[in-house]
Amino acid sequence: MIGLTTTVPVEIIYAAGLKPVDLNNLFINSENPGELLRTAEADGFSHNICAWIKGIYATVLLHRIENVVAVTGGDCSNTVALAEVLERRGVRVIPFNYPLDRDRDALVTEMEKFRKVFSVEWSDIEAVRKRLDRIRQKLVRLDELTYRENRVSGFENHLYLVSSSDFNGEPDAFEHGLELFLAEAEKREESRAGIRLGYLGVPPILNGFYEVIESFDARVVYNEIQRQFSLPFLDRDLVDRYLSYTYPYDIKGRVRDIEKAIQERHLDGLIHYTQTFCHRQIYDIVLREALEIPILTLEGDRPGKVDSRTAFRIETFVEMLRDNK
Ligand code: SF4
Repeated sequence: MIGLTTTVPVEIIYAAGLKPVDLNNLFINSENPGELLRTAEADGFSHNICAWIKGIYATVLLHRIENVVAVTGGDCSNTVALAEVLERRGVRVIPFNYPLDRDRDALVTEMEKFRKVFSVEWSDIEAVRKRLDRIRQKLVRLDELTYRENRVSGFENHLYLVSSSDFNGEPDAFEHGLELFLAEAEKREESRAGIRLGYLGVPPILNGFYEVIESFDARVVYNEIQRQFSLPFLDRDLVDRYLSYTYPYDIKGRVRDIEKAIQERHLDGLIHYTQTFCHRQIYDIVLREALEIPILTLEGDRPGKVDSRTAFRIETFVEMLRDNK
């Protein structure tokens, strides 16, 4: 089992016959994520460290994960220190850096280093790429069923796309479940929910988020970062895909992707989710300056249900969009 702090070229890990596990998903889907935070805090992580970092730390210890790929460039500055603490707990840390300037040669060098760590050949990686592409293609269809045909809910879209960072460690089972889901979704009636929203930012730590939105007759038809995790750039080679992936680089790529989605998906408004104590909150300034449709910024701290104040803000935002329409 290879723990991942965020999306990395999983084709390389699968080519080595190993099982990648996205630690964020393992944490948030655990029986008691709040308890995992308390474990990390008891070990010295302070209150003002992001809950995802604490959750990853405790998840690695709980599952006795011996190898962790830590994305030390392009994701989260906290990961660097987290990796050092994990090393002191006996975990082998494999760093991966996305080059901030999106330089192709630098990314090739990084992927080559990664390949050598796992002792695999490019031909094997290419074979895995082709195999995973069959799943990625189906995820593209799932996304179309969300925004074009309105047959897949925002939460279902989120769930499948966020899981594509590691395909739940079992691509065959993932693909089988996805095929069954798509077959069922293709037969559904089209949703008539009026207000179309885009969800920006890291995945929510809160549960019930999408259900609350839908209870106000609105639906999310664009999950920005989750969609990026699925690397829907099937016409490009492996390196170019990880260059097209917007999340680890500067905000300009994200803005272009969001602008395209606003047009293509006929979005009425955007919800920008930010995580308490996360440096990415600062991007809210850029998003508000660069994008010309209404944005509601929300913040989540610890795992749990959407609180009534947040639900009320969503309701007011949706009502405002409805009035504008
Ligand atoms: S939410 Fe922000 S601070 Fe927390 S792990 Fe992700 S990037 Fe880091």
